[in-house]
Amino acid sequence: QRENIKNLSPYSTARDEFKGQASVYLDANENSFGSPLPADYNRYPDPLQLDLKDAISKIKGVPIENTFLGNGSDEAIDLLFRAFCNPGKDNVIILPPTYGMYEVSANINDVEVRKVNLTPDFQLDLENIAETIDANTKIIFICSPNNPTGNSLNRGDIETILANFKGLVVIDEAYINFAKQKTFIQELTEYANLVILQTFSKAWGLAALRLGMAFSSTHVIDILNKVKPPYNINQATQDLALAALQNIQQVNEWIKITVNERERLANALSRLEKVRKVYPSDANFILVQIDHAHWTYHQLVDQGIIVRDRSKVVLCDDCLRITIGTTEENNQLLTALEKL
Ligand code: PMP
Repeated sequence: QRENIKNLSPYSTARDEFKGQASVYLDANENSFGSPLPADYNRYPDPLQLDLKDAISKIKGVPIENTFLGNGSDEAIDLLFRAFCNPGKDNVIILPPTYGMYEVSANINDVEVRKVNLTPDFQLDLENIAETIDANTKIIFICSPNNPTGNSLNRGDIETILANFKGLVVIDEAYINFAKQKTFIQELTEYANLVILQTFSKAWGLAALRLGMAFSSTHVIDILNKVKPPYNINQATQDLALAALQNIQQVNEWIKITVNERERLANALSRLEKVRKVYPSDANFILVQIDHAHWTYHQLVDQGIIVRDRSKVVLCDDCLRITIGTTEENNQLLTALEKL
């Protein structure tokens, strides 16, 4: 962790100490009369989100003290840079093609990004990663299942990095609910340098609420809690996420449908003449290599269908990334592609 973070006194409130012990709260300059909405939104939310974490802990099997909640997992990514990387001095390793925010957050925080491309079959290049690490390498970001390629990364390879790298190994499991690959949550007790990111934005269908999770050792979680903005998860998000957690059957049902649709869409796409390759996916999207990808992207836009043009991304020549939609949406996409 950064030297200034070691010595940091985090923002504190009078309520940290005495919450629940008083009946009159005149400490935080809130509106004591109430809120125009039918909820206690006039009061600041619980900064540590203990009720919500308790409910998440029951589902994930991770103790509260090993759980951090962020304003999306994007906030956790940013906080990892702010807490553990010295600007202008340290570096992190990312593994393109991969999720874009690692590099954006690094740039915002003036932290050097070292890129080690995945192998042509989208797996970890262990040899190159080992050669790229130096004394100032603080974090390696591993996205599995990987965005935009969709595949899970070899578990043994990830374990090799966990066992040999001294810095933090962040495994971004945003798409884990759609994967055959198992989560690394069970490995948390084994590796003190492991940070797992998950999110409510994908399988849980709550992208608009902005709620992400980081699971790690108490050492790392304590530091993230120290540097986070005091009220980073608003009360509406805490209330609504807590309600959503009661609805896990619905979420599991959608996961099943998404995985079935993924296989159906992959098969249908691979039968199209202009489709050169449909990459295997463990996520809720598929990477497809197609003739004239960039042109196809715009043709689809003209028909009111937006996919992601990844044709200029390294190792993804002529590729589109297609999110699995409803059955009807997927059929619309197929019809549109057939017509081109
Ligand atoms: N990680 C990956 C791999 C993602 O694809 C995304 C969203 N596109 C995120 C993290 C960010 O998720 P959140 O909505 O929780 O910030």
